[in-house]
Amino acid sequence: MFDTLSEKLQRAFKNLRGQGTITEENIGEALREIRVALLEADVNLGVVKELIEHIREKAVGQQVMTALSPTEQVVKIVNDELIAILGKDTARFNFASRPPTVILMAGLQGSGKTTTSGKLAAWLQKGGHRPMLVSVDVYRPAAREQLKIVAGSIKANLYEGDLKGENPGPDLVERLAREARRDAVNSGCDTLIVDTAGRLALDDDLMKEMERLKKLLAPQEILFVADAMTGQDAVNSADAFHKRLALTGVVLTKMDGDARGGAALSIRHVTGQPIKFIGTGERPDAFEAFHPDRIVSRILG
Ligand code: GDP
Repeated sequence: MFDTLSEKLQRAFKNLRGQGTITEENIGEALREIRVALLEADVNLGVVKELIEHIREKAVGQQVMTALSPTEQVVKIVNDELIAILGKDTARFNFASRPPTVILMAGLQGSGKTTTSGKLAAWLQKGGHRPMLVSVDVYRPAAREQLKIVAGSIKANLYEGDLKGENPGPDLVERLAREARRDAVNSGCDTLIVDTAGRLALDDDLMKEMERLKKLLAPQEILFVADAMTGQDAVNSADAFHKRLALTGVVLTKMDGDARGGAALSIRHVTGQPIKFIGTGERPDAFEAFHPDRIVSRILG
């Protein structure tokens, strides 16, 4: 189908062999290929510009080594730069020193928040924890019902609560969250996963509600769930949520689709927060810790 970046670079460097050094002139075409490859992989333009400058600085003046072709040399520089942004290691999950650990799930509607809440619960169960799930989406009964089904499918504890016909709004959200935490403690659960209301677009009411939940629950993790297929939109919403809430990490969903993964790089660069997990399907076990090196080869193609 498409040429890989390596193949494109090989073409760009075909005249370089035997020239001794990588220069400003002979790297120009290669940098253009790298730029296109990153943009095609959905890496944010600002991030691409910065990367290209770093790559230029590192590459220009380098002796063409005998052991590596110029292509291999530049691909290695690009690899190292991407890994430097993403962080070398898989990020740690924060647990409370005294249970329950509270995890607040944030994100727009349709990003995969509810599915991911279930996946995270299953991941915690596998690690020997006893998670409890609660949905504080008091605006959409279907959302609460969906979480109930998810919890049932993995046999996780769920705090349903009783809305008692109260008006949907922040007070009801807070009551449910408070009750869920109490219920988690009383029933011996060591983690509480709070699935929150999503909106179709960013809005101030949603942010205010999230801020109140953060204040009330003092969560150890505030995870932003982003749909990898939405590219730049995911980056912009992650940025907006991070500015208001100080996220602790990101879960990138729908990585089983054909998203190239540039969103991972951009979100990490823009928010400074690590991608902690990726979702790779609809089932509860289609979920794994994020490995920076794997995404790099996906971005470079
Ligand atoms: P929410 O509105 O953010 O709670 O999103 P949902 O959890 O309801 O997910 C929206 C849709 O995306 C559902 O059809 C999910 O099955 C699907 N989904 C969630 N995560 C993944 C994933 O990692 N891969 C795939 N292929 N689909 C996913």
